[in-house]
Amino acid sequence: MHRDGDRVPRSAADPRPGGQPYYIAPGCRRCSARLVLFDRLENPEAPDDEVWHDEWICPVCRDGLYMDWPESEFIEIDLDRLLEEVQEQLEREDDQQ
Ligand SMILES: [Zn+2]
Repeated sequence: MHRDGDRVPRSAADPRPGGQPYYIAPGCRRCSARLVLFDRLENPEAPDDEVWHDEWICPVCRDGLYMDWPESEFIEIDLDRLLEEVQEQLEREDDQQ
């Protein structure tokens, strides 16, 4: 029997139950703000199947990615640079279509 709340996410593409991290604490380790999906930070309307569900970020600090895995990692990133690269990547993909 499958119930939504009980489903264990098995990959980065699996939506997390309740819309919050499954394996890690749901709050920022610095300011305790609720973590949000990195992709949703950029595109709040993104459908579940178009975002990575393992990359979480604090909307206040924006200083790194929390990876939602049993052996979780916190990766410090230069968010502005990363967003620029994502934007460039999207533009390149648009050009190819
Ligand atoms: Zn924070």
